[in-house]
Amino acid sequence: MTLAVTLLGTGSPMPAPDRAGPATLISAGPESATGPDAEHYLVDAGRGVLMRLAASGLGAQNLTAVLITHLHSDHITDLNDVITTRWVMTFTETPLTIVGPVGTQQVVDHILASLDPDIEYRIAHHQDLDDRPPVQVIEVTEGVVELPGGQGGKVAITCGQTDHKPVEPSVGFRFDFEGVSVVAAGDTIPCAGLDTLCEGADALVHTVIRKDIIANIPMQRMQDTLDYHSSPEEAAQTAAKAGIHTLIYTHYVPAPPMGGTYDDWRELGAAHFDGSIELGDDLHRVEITSN
Ligand SMILES: [Zn+2]
Ligand SMILES: [Zn+2]
Repeated sequence: MTLAVTLLGTGSPMPAPDRAGPATLISAGPESATGPDAEHYLVDAGRGVLMRLAASGLGAQNLTAVLITHLHSDHITDLNDVITTRWVMTFTETPLTIVGPVGTQQVVDHILASLDPDIEYRIAHHQDLDDRPPVQVIEVTEGVVELPGGQGGKVAITCGQTDHKPVEPSVGFRFDFEGVSVVAAGDTIPCAGLDTLCEGADALVHTVIRKDIIANIPMQRMQDTLDYHSSPEEAAQTAAKAGIHTLIYTHYVPAPPMGGTYDDWRELGAAHFDGSIELGDDLHRVEITSN
């Protein structure tokens, strides 16, 4: 049995030729958890997410659920693609479940409204499509996340509040499977809600920005990002406090190589954390083992 993390998109709002937008896949199942018989949870749906999912051998039909950490545009740009592609290009009958903070239902309703013309064209043109894309939204604040019957079941999902103010609410998710657990923090500064979610977990996927570099960029728009993200050092402190053994960085700003080498990022974290630190290009995959 395997619980694995695949960094589908390690980018940020800044378009990059080789980094998709924020998206992380959590897979759980037999052997290496790569096949359709595993449960696959998509955390955030940034730019290019389905291209990266295809590169990992999966498609929209394989997603057990989509979990959104917050409603910043870079984390949801391709949610419309996931919704439409699952509806039109696959034959799954299971509704797409989207879990997210309060406000997610409204955003999904607006995405669907923007797709109205497309939805009409496809229903008119394909006889077997007789209804709108089946999507159900579950808004969460904290605690156990219950998926509808028949969906998931092998992985226990818990949600906790994070701190990405003024983006409110924002949440992180914890996935427990066969005695192994991983937390996806999303964008947040260190906070009690994340500490609680991480307690006793094995791995933490944390978005990070190099504050030491950004602080020296004389542009207010960049400076504004400093107070609501974590640096690699801060993410490492959160991981160390919780007894995590594998820390996985994603959402690199500024991204390597411009923002330094991967070893530079690892060194910043290693000053605060004894465990292993993982980061890499899109599709970097880490299999999580128990403490
Ligand atoms: Zn954000
Ligand atoms: Zn972000």
